[in-house]
Amino acid sequence: MDITKQSITSIRDAIAGKKASAVEITQAYLDRIHQLDGAVHAFNETYADRAVDRARAVDAGEVAGPLAGVPIAVKDNLCTTWGHTTCSSKMLANFAAPYNATVIERLEAAGAVILGKTNLDEFAMGSSTEHSATGATRNPWDTERVPGGSSGGSAAAVAADFCVASFGSDTGGSIRQPAALCGVVGMKPTYGLISRFGLVAFASSLDQIGPFTHTVGDAAELLNVIAGHDPRDSTSATLDFSGPIPDYTADLETPVDGLTLGIAKQYMGEGNDPAMAQALDKAIAQFKDMGATIVDVDLPHTEYGIPTYYIVATAEASSNLARYDGVHYGHRAAEAEDLVDLYAASRAEGFGDEVKRRIMLGTFVLCSGYADAYYNRALKVRRLIKQDFDTAFEACDAIICPTTTGPAFKFGDKTDDPLAMYMQDVYTVNANLAGIAGISLPGGFAEGEGADAPRLPLGIQLLGPTFGEAKLLRIARMLEKANDYHAARPILG
Ligand code: GLN
Repeated sequence: MDITKQSITSIRDAIAGKKASAVEITQAYLDRIHQLDGAVHAFNETYADRAVDRARAVDAGEVAGPLAGVPIAVKDNLCTTWGHTTCSSKMLANFAAPYNATVIERLEAAGAVILGKTNLDEFAMGSSTEHSATGATRNPWDTERVPGGSSGGSAAAVAADFCVASFGSDTGGSIRQPAALCGVVGMKPTYGLISRFGLVAFASSLDQIGPFTHTVGDAAELLNVIAGHDPRDSTSATLDFSGPIPDYTADLETPVDGLTLGIAKQYMGEGNDPAMAQALDKAIAQFKDMGATIVDVDLPHTEYGIPTYYIVATAEASSNLARYDGVHYGHRAAEAEDLVDLYAASRAEGFGDEVKRRIMLGTFVLCSGYADAYYNRALKVRRLIKQDFDTAFEACDAIICPTTTGPAFKFGDKTDDPLAMYMQDVYTVNANLAGIAGISLPGGFAEGEGADAPRLPLGIQLLGPTFGEAKLLRIARMLEKANDYHAARPILG
């Protein structure tokens, strides 16, 4: 067996059938990272010794569970009591968290082997990882292009088979967009399904943790482990209206005939790259062939998504990031005249340009005299966006649309134009504003520019109602099954 081309189930079978030990599997992934991550920079930090120790415990039967021996990477904004949690920021370059995120605890309790922390845009603000203080991650399909962001390291790590699965956070698209650009599955669960305890906050009413995998089945496996109420996160849902958390793998193979998929014209515009439009048409035709009904739905407030998101997210970020003052947390300037000067100098030195831009924007939209015009108005539009989805889901089980307008772009293409970068999220932010579930899965390829240029992955996005993950995964699985895009791999090394 090719030890670094595995799924969660195949690893479980290999260990159970004694075809490979957890230590061998962990070591093979660590070796691959060691050999090839120099060209990708998916990781900020790896934990080789700790990972091998954990794998040894699996082999000794001391650790069991559905993820026993499965090598996993996590975004560097999830707190762990070992190593550093840096958010790819100079501000937190030496930060050692005093506790583990709930997701980390649940993964380890299920037997997962955590290999390391992956790169991101500083504090998860960005769409390309170019805003990382540790340097950009490269797209494994074409190392001249971005992997997307902000969870670009997590997406690239799965695409490059540096781990079986990884985790990221999605505030406005940071799981789905990089998943699309790197040709892997990325899921943003419903707001509140996964505990955010131990996730460094960016915009607390939008942030959600979710998985990156090669297959929809693996995403379901991971959701089974991490979903569910956590008393340490008061925004995590109790789900008492629908009983216990379902087994997300149970219905995956149930066909989609009888289900209805919605298409919204607001997602089918001229801005879509022709290859993206073609991939979407193909996916819609495949669903029709599988017996799904396709209906038109209207999401009239879609166009307000980007301005609304960039008001709400920056407002919350300006408040969340106030704690990094060089006294409580983070980088402290060496020289300062007085306390106020110390705050100013520490923040000026510790934060990168994009983070500063967000803090200034957020402070502006919240300040008295402007809050009614910007922040409070954005909250009202947010409600309208949510109502659009509620109405649409009365007519369909899920909405099918592109994840992005096109494939991965080249480094530097959008760094001088923040608005162009923000437009990367045009198809993803509304799901966060509405709190609904979304998944991106491999949906085909665009040809690269030039005869020898590698082809570039495209993502199909499916959006479903709040807590509709089980059905959404089932629909995604049916599309995956009709194609073989998920089996394709970039050529590295
Ligand atoms: N790209 C978006 C932003 O820059 C989304 C980021 C995210 O989801 N963390 O805010």
